Amino acid sequence: MIQEDVPASGTTAAPSAERAEVVRVENLHKSFGSLEVLKGISFTAQEGDVIAIIGGSGSGKSTLLRCINMLEHPTAGSVSVHGETIAMKSDGDGGLVPADRRQVQRIRTRLAMVFQSFNLWQHMTLLGNVIEVPVHVLGVPKGEAVERARALLDRVGLSDKEDVYPAFLSGGQQQRAAIARALAIQPEVMLFDEPTSALDPELVGEVLSVIRDLAHERRTMVLVTHEMSFAREVASHIIFLADGEIEEEGQPEAIFDNPKSERLQKFIGSIQ
Ligand code: ADP
Ligand code: MG
Repeated sequence: MIQEDVPASGTTAAPSAERAEVVRVENLHKSFGSLEVLKGISFTAQEGDVIAIIGGSGSGKSTLLRCINMLEHPTAGSVSVHGETIAMKSDGDGGLVPADRRQVQRIRTRLAMVFQSFNLWQHMTLLGNVIEVPVHVLGVPKGEAVERARALLDRVGLSDKEDVYPAFLSGGQQQRAAIARALAIQPEVMLFDEPTSALDPELVGEVLSVIRDLAHERRTMVLVTHEMSFAREVASHIIFLADGEIEEEGQPEAIFDNPKSERLQKFIGSIQ
């Protein structure tokens, strides 16, 4: 659980200088062949920040998230988690690869990613899905992992489904289970890549409500979303990506009520 120093007034979050930096992305570039998808992205997420990344299809949002946990290797630039920079070396072909796989594995246990398409393990029950990484990667004793998993499934409203296989559940239930599985590693930051975009409209609310609770707990999150009213409601900071660059960023009110760049004005106009 994240502890936050509450200032004397008790009405606002602690000044940013007092909060630890959880993720720092510096001058990140990523190309696929000759296609330059990320063109020098920099931002930081401090403890308790909810950073929402918005932008049109193909603007590089998923690639940016995937570079943070090294599912994609950046072509240049760096990613740091709690001040530890992921060491990279040349891949001999103009790109970079992690210099130390063990460092990446270790850092990945501090980041949890929730994908658009749930990605639950189909051959395991929900309980099996939630305890898998704690037991087999993190070495948590099974009894303790099961106890924690049950509490997490309860939290996302699935306590009666622990013995069910994913195929028998709705998309909303699967995504809530995926969030429970992500929480089970006790991550320092949650990365969400359009967690509701594969859902039928009537199932979106139940997933947003779980994410909203996490935001209210002041969990650190980086959230790619096309749900603009939700981004406005939960985000502390919004980044608008266009063509692989941060076109504009700021607090939700500034982004949505007073967009400065023409591209952001157009983007907001197109989704209303
Ligand atoms: P977004 O999530 O904002 O829709 P993506 O990050 O998925 O955008 O994609 C950005 C661009 O990178 C797109 O043009 C996409 O086709 C391209 N791209 C993404 N992943 C790959 C890949 N593995 N190989 C080649 N091109 C890719
Ligand atoms: Mg995407």
